[in-house]
Amino acid sequence: MAVKDKETGAVFDDWIEYEDKESDTDTWTQVCDACAKCLHLLDSYLEVGAGQGICGVVGCQNEADHYYDFTREEVNNANSRTSKA
Ligand SMILES: [Zn+2]
Repeated sequence: MAVKDKETGAVFDDWIEYEDKESDTDTWTQVCDACAKCLHLLDSYLEVGAGQGICGVVGCQNEADHYYDFTREEVNNANSRTSKA
C-alpha cells in the first residue's frame, strides 16, 4: 500500500514502519537523489548517502542514495505523487 508523507505530500510505495515509538517520525524509506530534490523532501529528515536498494517513491526504480524519515498518512490513490497543498 502506498503512503504519503504528511509534510511534503510525497507518495511512497516501499516503506517501513518504525518500531521505536519515541521517534519524531513513524516511518522510513529510501530515496534517490533526484526524488529528494524533485519532491522537496525535508533536509532535516534526510540521511544523506545512507540509502540502499530501490527508491521508495511511487513509480521510481532508481537506486536509492539516501534514507528518509517521515510521518505517514495513508492514501487511496497510489498514483497521486503530489499533495493538494
Ligand atoms: Zn527516486
